[in-house]
Amino acid sequence: MNDAIRPLDYLAPPACIGILGAGQLGRMLVHTAQKMGYQTVVLDPDSNAPAAHLSHEFLQFAYDDPQGIDLLAQRASRVTTEFENVPAHTLESLSLKVPVRPSAYAVSVAQDRTIEKNMIRACDLQTAPYHIIGQACDILKTPLELFPGILKTARLGYDGKGQVLVHDMAELHSAYASLNAFSNPTASDESIPCVFEKKLPLLAEFSVIVARNERNDMVNLPIQCNQHINGILHLCTVFNHALDAELENELIQAAHKIAQTLSYVGVLCVEFFIVDESPSSLPSSRTSKTPSWVVNEIAPRPHNSGHHSLDSCDVSQFELQLRTLCGLPLVTPRQHSPCVMLNLLGDLWFKEDGTGPIEPAWEKVLAHSGTHLHLYGKTQARKGRKMGHLNITAAHPKEALMILEKCLHILDLPPIKSAFLSMSTHHDH
Ligand code: ADP
Ligand code: MG
Repeated sequence: MNDAIRPLDYLAPPACIGILGAGQLGRMLVHTAQKMGYQTVVLDPDSNAPAAHLSHEFLQFAYDDPQGIDLLAQRASRVTTEFENVPAHTLESLSLKVPVRPSAYAVSVAQDRTIEKNMIRACDLQTAPYHIIGQACDILKTPLELFPGILKTARLGYDGKGQVLVHDMAELHSAYASLNAFSNPTASDESIPCVFEKKLPLLAEFSVIVARNERNDMVNLPIQCNQHINGILHLCTVFNHALDAELENELIQAAHKIAQTLSYVGVLCVEFFIVDESPSSLPSSRTSKTPSWVVNEIAPRPHNSGHHSLDSCDVSQFELQLRTLCGLPLVTPRQHSPCVMLNLLGDLWFKEDGTGPIEPAWEKVLAHSGTHLHLYGKTQARKGRKMGHLNITAAHPKEALMILEKCLHILDLPPIKSAFLSMSTHHDH
């Protein structure tokens, strides 16, 4: 049987778990693995990466260095990844030596927006309308009804990077040239594969985090309502009944279907757009019925929108990942507290006039009950860099939101947008 689908036996602690990538996701996975008695070894090219100093062992190698791959396979009994862009051949060669979950195939689908969108549509699910621009000459074939749209590099984009909002054909030409320069500054031709996607009128964004094992057991975290600013996740609320039950169930089933189609083993996040269908937001050229929701993208790993689970649920997304990797039973996470998660970006370390960095006033934030501070140990604060997150739990959503407002004020951040507020608490009583 193909190793990627062979059910894994139970792996008892203190066996060693290998992780490709030592970023914040790797760090939180290491915390969880160590809490459960496992040893860890992480591989990352950066010796200052958040998990590097925490893990029992750290291997400083490039992701495609055969020596690093060999060492990781020798040290670890099972391997997973926290970094989405590990070369697929690294995962493949590792999997010849040690069980690797998720599979190289599943990760490679998520690495390329073109392949990802094909897979989503093959699941009979909708995506935003799009056109593939593999090279400059494809620009002229762009259907006009896709404007205004967002040009995205097919590979290596994250946190809104590698994306440009485009209003017309002339802008599309210059945006494509700029993304080529961004992705490949030394190339003389224009050939970076991109996807041009219609900009949809979004009512809200939600995500579903599902964990699946080889036996097709699937469990998911409660659905998250996400607010992005400039393409970066800003806030996430996890309240009961934010969506009506039928719609919520549709999104959960869609996430399960994708996990199943990919024969996915591990933790998978599926991002959704809820689309505004009111007549004023629809283009006049619209002929077919616009779906009320579409799949945006997937992430083959724990996800920023699932960080709340560390404090709001009895099983976190990191424990779920570990359970799939160690052949442990998958139990349905129970959310015990309504929760809001606020991402803490490097911007918070700088004043408006650019002076800094200085540490934000955590002592004031932590004076409020239900606040849980998570900092990733990054030594250098930079604007737009994810430095940590703040989870706020409370007995009731309104209380969590009230404390959030106070924390936003302390941190000099703008108040919550009322549209986001009404969506995330829509059906709450
Ligand atoms: P990333 O890989 O950087 O997360 P996404 O494709 O998820 O890239 O885009 C980041 C954010 O940009 C989304 O969460 C959403 O807020 C906005 N966005 C992306 N695509 C669209 C679209 N087609 N219509 C409207 N908003 C979009
Ligand atoms: Mg995204």
